[in-house]
Amino acid sequence: MAVSYKPQLNYTDFKDLTEQIHFQSSEGKIWFGEQRMLLMNLTSLGAFRREIVNSMGAERAKGFFLRLGYLSGLKDAELARKLRPHCSELDIFLAGPQLHSLKGMVKVIPLEIDLDQETGDFYGRLEWIDSWEVEICKTELGQMSEPACWVLLGYACAYTSSFMGREIIFREVSCRGCGDEKCIIEGKPAEEWPDAKEFSRHFKADPIIEELYDLQEQLNSLRSTLQRQQGQYYGIGQSASYNKVCKMIDKAAQGKVSVLLLGETGVGKEVIAKSVHLRSERADGPFIAVNCAAIPPDLIEAELFGVEKGAYTGANQAREGRFERAHGGTIFLDEVVELTPRAQATLLRVLQEGELERVGDNRTRKVNVRVIAATNESLEQAVEEGRFRADLFYRLNVFPVQIPALRDRLEDLPLLAGHFLEKFHAQYEKRTLGLSDKALSLCMSYHWPGNIRELENVIERGVILTDNIETISQDALFVTPPATDKQPGERIDEEGNMRSGPPEGGTGSWSDTILGAGISLDEVEETLMRQAMEQANQNVSKAARLLGLTRPALAYRLKKSGILAES
Ligand SMILES: [Zn+2]
Repeated sequence: MAVSYKPQLNYTDFKDLTEQIHFQSSEGKIWFGEQRMLLMNLTSLGAFRREIVNSMGAERAKGFFLRLGYLSGLKDAELARKLRPHCSELDIFLAGPQLHSLKGMVKVIPLEIDLDQETGDFYGRLEWIDSWEVEICKTELGQMSEPACWVLLGYACAYTSSFMGREIIFREVSCRGCGDEKCIIEGKPAEEWPDAKEFSRHFKADPIIEELYDLQEQLNSLRSTLQRQQGQYYGIGQSASYNKVCKMIDKAAQGKVSVLLLGETGVGKEVIAKSVHLRSERADGPFIAVNCAAIPPDLIEAELFGVEKGAYTGANQAREGRFERAHGGTIFLDEVVELTPRAQATLLRVLQEGELERVGDNRTRKVNVRVIAATNESLEQAVEEGRFRADLFYRLNVFPVQIPALRDRLEDLPLLAGHFLEKFHAQYEKRTLGLSDKALSLCMSYHWPGNIRELENVIERGVILTDNIETISQDALFVTPPATDKQPGERIDEEGNMRSGPPEGGTGSWSDTILGAGISLDEVEETLMRQAMEQANQNVSKAARLLGLTRPALAYRLKKSGILAES
């Protein structure tokens, strides 16, 4: 039965609602029924609204605030049904407007309400007096060009729709927020509004988030395309020796076998490994790079092959290793000679059977990973010395690629220097005029023991030390002008310090001195290593180069003599 009613709301008669409010100040909580509430000041909400409107525009902001009211309306409709189960339809319905005024949002005067839950008929016309949203318009936003009571409207739509069990849409037919005399809302079933669809869109999750996701996806795909291109065309260089490497890499990429990259430290082995990966059919899979020398020997197995919970003290949870993470892709094992005998055995099994067991686990796991290994010392020699398994060496050495040192492809240096200049110009947001002729000629005659990595560091230093629109001088590149000929031999002076250049007193004098002083070979070795480490600022790789050793060889000796603590 339809009720047509022009009610005068009795604002004293909603004790059942006010009783729902509980202040639990000692706990820092205010409750309304089972909903936690906040007492917030209007000013801060006003400022927040202004910020939202300014940053995303009125139309989008309107959607946000309509949905804010909508959620609150749904909650209150549920509460009204619970609190007034035995009341008339109209009394239950009126809990909505009463709650609105109880919460301090607005005073509601129902002008006309026709409702019938059975048939779903609804028509409502109500006046809003002293809307909080009109008030913040006055103080924060100024007069709007359209009705401004967004949160209130969202609430009315949700509350009534939930109450009627069908979509009811309210519209503000006049609003003080946009200069009208009164705030009047009118509500009826969605079908009776000609533009219902357009309006309802406000209640859907805002498309801005989908737009962001879309953009992010595009960005990711662009980034990986870019990476792939960089990988594919990283070949910065036109020298014959570099071209030869590129051709080898192309062939290696097509195959499935392991690749062994050989060459001094700093020649760009990881970049080459990534190129192989990106040019292979595994390009969409993961690329995992591991420097075996950087992981302590007793952790290397767990790191590479994973570990089960409780496998050893400190293994608090099961964890997958780098091989499992590289499944379907490529793993790059730099300084592979550093692997412990047990890790070598497991690696061999992965290569032969494509399976592994985590440390402390007896479950066998299948992995499909392509291995690219690299070393800057001779694996053959390591095999001879019993430090590296021969069978593993043969497995890894199927496709060896020798990467030339920078000094053997100096004609590529200007190109590489240009590449790094671009990189650091972007990184430091400045633009130099590039290397001076003198600086470049110094670069072209330097022997570059640290190869491309050293060049990169030198160029970075040059960019940092040079002002905008100025030329990078040789002083900006090198702290002290480097030796440009063949490196002169190192020697020890009378105090035991290492010196460059030929000894003053003719040959043999320093060894005579040492022998004469009764200094042992161990002491000589230790003194040399300490001095080299000092000159290299404790950088083991640099010190190794000074001593003409490989990094692992020096690291081994340093540990043995106690100069470098085990870490
Ligand atoms: Zn209004």
